[in-house]
Amino acid sequence: MATRLLILGGTTEARALAGHIAAIAGYDAVLSLAGRTERPLPQPLPVRTGGFGGAAGLAAYLKTESIAALVVATHPFAAQIAANAAEAARMVGIPAVKLTRPPWRPVEGDVWRLYPSLEALIEGLAGSPRRLLVTIGRQDAPRFAAAPQHAYVFRSIEPIDLPPALGQAVTIEERGPFTLEGEVALMRRHAIEALITKNSGGEATCAKLDAARELGLPVLMVDRPPAPALPNLASIDDVIAFLAHHAPPEKRGV
Ligand code: NAP
Repeated sequence: MATRLLILGGTTEARALAGHIAAIAGYDAVLSLAGRTERPLPQPLPVRTGGFGGAAGLAAYLKTESIAALVVATHPFAAQIAANAAEAARMVGIPAVKLTRPPWRPVEGDVWRLYPSLEALIEGLAGSPRRLLVTIGRQDAPRFAAAPQHAYVFRSIEPIDLPPALGQAVTIEERGPFTLEGEVALMRRHAIEALITKNSGGEATCAKLDAARELGLPVLMVDRPPAPALPNLASIDDVIAFLAHHAPPEKRGV
């Protein structure tokens, strides 16, 4: 029997990790997606979709499926599933590890205002109208209805359903990676006065930060939520080494 792994995904890193794991003989891995994306990209491993039913539901899945190790490769802002994963792995007694891309760090010339939550950021938007580019994902966009006086440009991978208070907003559906030239052009085209983002980290979408710096625009940024109680690794190689140590691939007889 091959060693069974569960990868919690929904990120570029999870997809890349899945490609590496698929190529290692002796692993039988499943990639789990929340099911938020209507047109998910093809994946290099078998996929299961949808919630497990909290930490207890995930623990039951790990047991029933004889999972030997759990890799949490979800988005750094997906705090609930990461906490559930840490708890479920502890309940079942299997090794678990988090693959997290490093956060973005400001460099000279950046004007970043950091907020502990999206709620705090939106509260900070009180005041006179501004032209704002918002790149925080589809799920949270409707929350900007609490500050309806601004002229918003929302960019997301999939279509956003906006409430009537945001009826004048511009929506752009586009998947990264983005280029500096493209981001500068977008900000100029819409006369953007500030960029709103989460500190997601990663290469695919960081050009917007370079563009904001180049144009002298402030960036209003939601800081990362607390990390789960799991060993945290930043590279796929380190995760593979962790797995090789804690849940090695089954060696097939010759
Ligand atoms: P979340 O708040 O941490 O999770 C909410 C619930 O969704 C979880 O309790 C779990 O339901 C289910 N869930 C989340 N990820 C799952 C997965 N990979 N497989 C199965 N069930 C999952 O998560 P979220 O912020 O809504 O994000 C959902 C997914 O989108 C994540 O997988 C994440 O990697 C991806 N994503 C999130 C963001 C972001 O900014 N939050 C950005 C890009 C991608 P049960 O309790 O029923 O198990």
